Parts: sequence; structure tokens; C-alpha cells
Amino acid sequence: MSAMITMGSDGILHVPDDPVIPFIQGDGTGIDIWPAAQSVLDAAAARHGRSIAWKEVLAGQRAYDETGEWLPQETVDAFREHLIGIKGPLTTPVGGGIRSLNVALRQILDLYVCLRPVRWFSGVPSPVKHPEKVDVVIFRENTEDIYAGLEVEQGTAEAKRLIELLHDEMGWTIRTDSGVGIKPVSVTGSKRLVRAALDYAVARGRKSVTLVHKGNIQKYTEGAFRNWGYELTREEFSDVAVGWDDCGGDPGDRVLVKDAIADITLQQVLTRPEDFDVIATTNLNGDYLSDAVAAQVGGIGIAPGGNINYVSGHGIFEATHGTAPKYAGQDKVNPGSVLLSGVMMFEHLGWTDAADGIVRALEATIADGIVTYDFARLMDDATEVKCSEFASAIVDRL
Ligand code: NAP
Repeated sequence: MSAMITMGSDGILHVPDDPVIPFIQGDGTGIDIWPAAQSVLDAAAARHGRSIAWKEVLAGQRAYDETGEWLPQETVDAFREHLIGIKGPLTTPVGGGIRSLNVALRQILDLYVCLRPVRWFSGVPSPVKHPEKVDVVIFRENTEDIYAGLEVEQGTAEAKRLIELLHDEMGWTIRTDSGVGIKPVSVTGSKRLVRAALDYAVARGRKSVTLVHKGNIQKYTEGAFRNWGYELTREEFSDVAVGWDDCGGDPGDRVLVKDAIADITLQQVLTRPEDFDVIATTNLNGDYLSDAVAAQVGGIGIAPGGNINYVSGHGIFEATHGTAPKYAGQDKVNPGSVLLSGVMMFEHLGWTDAADGIVRALEATIADGIVTYDFARLMDDATEVKCSEFASAIVDRL
């Protein structure tokens, strides 16, 4: 009998050794990468006396073909009930209906943190000289900013009305042939995001949290995000963290909370990545930053991600790349992104021994020159293997 993961009244996840975990295989290359990743996750769990009762649920193209719905209610219910799940990439329906299935799942379960740890794994080909200096964990706000989806289309009656209202009530002049988007950033949304980043930094012994914003221009959204981050540090974390201005840049043994403007941050993560540890940021900044930083350590083929609500306990871990349809069913692409999402999931469940084991085995596999096509084309003397063979090689090295 397998058991359920539950959220305790202490705000801590209670994880049995044999949890039920729902998964979405994913469209396109999901058919290749999911079984490969699952075999590694199962083998690593078993080595530490644990097992996962995988529960398949549907979403995306396959769900649409089999049920007529892109995101069946049963799938949402399974993630809601079992708290933690994992998914491969999904085809985004074109035209009408759901804007993006990933966004829909995040909104329905209020998964307010998009967590993107970015670090270099020994041996992975990289475009920079010192990829080992990159070890950044990005907390990107997931529910506000442009992702709130509050937009009106140019030329519509709604756009005309909004432009007139803003003119009459606020005195704003907006060209009449504009589309208009609204960017909400709240105290609630900002503080719970920064709280999650600070909790993480404290628990993992990280040195700093950088609040990345564009507050020099957007004062009441981006600038406010920064101010609320510092305010929260003083209100709730003063024994374990301190803002730059409150310590003159010398935090002692506390976590240093500092801030940086988004445009210069995109330069500095490249020129001095060692200055960045944990990053907390608004949605759009986080979108650009996570891909830019991931490129330094071997690209999006292996970048993992998680969407988490630390209060309710819900979390969905996911491959960050898309379905790469041209490679679907060829047993060719790199399963690293969904596999490392599984590693994040294990860490989140407290299964750090199994998670560390996978990372070590992955690095040993790459060190032996055994890689999929995407790395092989960037490495000298590599042995190119199929997706499933790469997974087997990792299992052999666990
Ligand atoms: P994509 O599927 O991410 O593919 C773009 C390129 O990234 C591929 O051609 C390939 O590069 C590389 N790539 C992707 N997955 C890889 C893997 N596992 N291993 C190695 N290389 C990999 O992006 P797209 O073609 O723009 O999008 C296709 C579909 O995916 C769309 O329907 C889109 O909406 C959806 N999508 C879903 C998600 C999600 O579910 N999270 C995210 C993004 C996009 P090379 O050709 O250079 O080998």
C-alpha cells in the first residue's frame, strides 16, 4: 500500500517512504524523456529504501486526443490531492481556450514560486570560461506582473474603453491604436515570494538574497517589490538576515539581502556570477534571468524547474524546455531537464541522499563522455548515446 504526502499543521510536508506521485509524461519528446528519467528516479529511490507509486495523469495534446479536454479536471484533482507532482513538456493549444496549460496549473493551485536552481554539472559543455562559478537559485514570482494576463487587444471596444477611462480619470494619454496590459504587483504577492526565498537561503546556508527589480523606472510596482522585500527582512527575519543598508554591506553570519536593477543584473550574472546566490524577483525579470543564467551552464536542455506553494504544500516540478516535436519518438533528446526536476522534487521531499546520488551519477556519466546529441555536438571525443541509453548509464553509476 502506498501512502499520501500530507501537509502538517506545523507547515512541514510529511513524506512517507512510498508516496503516490502524479506525473504527466508530456507531449512530443515527453514519450522519450519521461520513461528515461523515471528509471533513474526509481533506481535512486530504491537504493535508499524508498519507492514511488507513480500515478499517470493527462494534460496537453494526449489529454485532448483521449478526452477532448486539454486539462482534465481529474488531473487538477490529482495534483491537488497528492500535493507533489512532476510533468514533462506540454503542447500549448493554438488559438482560443486555455492560454497555456503550465500557466493554468500554476494559477489553479496558486503555485506562487517558480523555482529555478542553476548550477553547472561537471563536464557539461558551456559557452563561458568558468561555468563552475554559477550557482544561483532563482525565485521568480509566478502569479502577478505580466503573467496575470490582464491585457486588452488593440482596436477592440475594451481597449477603447480602457484608454478613455485612463484619460478621463487619470489624465493619461495613450495612443488610441494601442493594446494595453496591466502589471499588478502586490504586497501579498511580493512578500510571500521573498519570504520563500529567505526561508530557502536560511535553511540551505546560502549567503545572500538579491532582490532584482526595475524600480528606477517602475517605482510603484518594481520599486515597491524591492521596498517590501527589505521591509519583510526587518519584520520577520531580523535574527537571521539583514538588508544592505541596515548593515553597511557587512551581515556577519546573517544572510545579506541586497538589491540590483534588472538590466545590470543581466550583465553581472555573466561577468561576476559568484556575486549572485539566491535571487528573488518579479515575473518578467525572472523569465529573462532564468534562461540567461541557464545558458551559461549548458543551456535549457538540462535546466530544471519547480512551481511551488510553500503554504499549501503543493508543488509541480517540470522540464523547462518545450516538446521539441521534430525529435519526438526518436529516443534522442536529453532527459536531463525532467530528470533534474525529479532531483529538485526529491530535495523538496527531504530525499537529499537519493537526489545527491543522481547528481553524482549524472556527472560521472558525462565525465566518461557518455552524452546525448546536444552535448555531443559541443564536446570533443564524446560518445553520443540515445536518451534511454544515457539514463541506463546514469543508473549504472548510481
Ligand atoms: P522546444 O520544444 O524547447 O525546442 C527548442 C529547441 O530546444 C529544440 O529544437 C532543441 O534544440 C532544444 N531542446 C528542447 N528540448 C531538448 C532536450 N530535451 N534535449 C536537448 N535539446 C532540447 O521549443 P519550441 O520548439 O519553441 O516549442 C515546441 C512546443 O513546446 C510548443 O508547443 C511550445 O508551446 C511548447 N513549450 C512547452 C513548454 C512546457 O511545457 N514547459 C515550454 C516551452 C515550450 P536543437 O534543435 O538545437 O537540437
